[in-house]
Amino acid sequence: AMSEAIDDEVAKEIATAFITSPFLGGVYGERVDTLIHYEQKAVGSILTNKYAEGYPGKRYYGGCEYVDEIERIAIEKACQLFNCEHANVQPHSGSQANMAVYLAILKPGDKVLAMDLASGGHLSHGHRLSFSGQLYDFHFYGVDPVSKMIDVNEVRRLAHQIKPKLIVVGASAYYRIIPFPAFRQIADEVGAYLMADVAHIAGLIAASIHPSPFPHAHFVTTTTHKTLRGPRGGMILCDKQYGALIDRAVFPGVQGGPLMHIIAGKAVAFEEALAPEFKKYQQNVVDNAATLANEFISMGVEVVSGQTDAHMLVINTMSSFKISGKEAQQILDDVLITVNKNSIPYDPLPPGVTSGIRIGTPALTTRGFNATAFRLIAILITVSLRQRHDDKSLIKIKKIVRMLNRQFR
Ligand code: PLP
Repeated sequence: AMSEAIDDEVAKEIATAFITSPFLGGVYGERVDTLIHYEQKAVGSILTNKYAEGYPGKRYYGGCEYVDEIERIAIEKACQLFNCEHANVQPHSGSQANMAVYLAILKPGDKVLAMDLASGGHLSHGHRLSFSGQLYDFHFYGVDPVSKMIDVNEVRRLAHQIKPKLIVVGASAYYRIIPFPAFRQIADEVGAYLMADVAHIAGLIAASIHPSPFPHAHFVTTTTHKTLRGPRGGMILCDKQYGALIDRAVFPGVQGGPLMHIIAGKAVAFEEALAPEFKKYQQNVVDNAATLANEFISMGVEVVSGQTDAHMLVINTMSSFKISGKEAQQILDDVLITVNKNSIPYDPLPPGVTSGIRIGTPALTTRGFNATAFRLIAILITVSLRQRHDDKSLIKIKKIVRMLNRQFR
């Protein structure tokens, strides 16, 4: 009886927290802290204990009245945020969101056209070691060898040649504007569905900084934990006409019970993303990425494709410093700067080594890092990699990084 009472009370508290918007006003930093607090409270809540197979109003478990309310709020806010008709907020991850769309519209062996991993694509877009590459017949487009940008004419040529049932657009390491209308036109020409995986840029889309995949894509998948800044998870968005198909594919298609604590956290994140301050934050994120890119370029470091339109960039460590991405990542780890080794287009080195590193600005922007701080970061990274054999220099850099960390907590 005691635990039931707590369960009920906490669930109610969380549910009302969303309804009575938790914003306190004041400076954005305070609001972020408050929201992160609510999001973490939701994710760390007793909702983790509630089984709720099914969907609001159609569950296979009793006692779902509060989780129904929470999931309905999450769905409603997701639709509002992305201006769409249907949202499924249950996918446990981005990969599972993609898996559900494939299950909904493809049969094993069907052809799909997607971006290759080295050009910025994701494992769940047909890599041979992923379920996607094993179940479906994936073909790939890359980027233009010179501009390192998507060449829609090449995508069109491949689409007409392959005649896929599905075209996938969206990436993990491509940060130029994605031409969704051109992709839809190509999909229509060959009678394919279009799926936009906006995992990386969902926050930028919500803030109208990157063009929306709607109404062009038939299906939009995303993670909720990248620029959208929510809890770790996935989501699928589409028109009403595909709603039932997608819902069936998520449950019982690829998942069992939803993670209600995560869905509660997603609702908080969507609430945050609907606020005007979120737009300002996303603008800072892309401005900071552009600052980082410009600073690297002015020091003679190669930024893949020459600029960024989004929240991250990849630098070519091989051309700039004559070291692999793996070595660069290790050198930077040693001075307390965390990045990840990342393939560059046409990378001759394997994904475990790579010729580049990928750097994003969302997390540090949340912590208040400004243009000056990002200029300094570009310098610290460049100097660390250039003077990697000079221990004294590396010790100095580590000290500066510690100072920066203290300044922006
Ligand atoms: N899609 C894209 C474009 C991604 O970048 C990622 C994650 O990096 C995913 C899907 C998969 O997300 P998850 O790691 O949640 O499965």
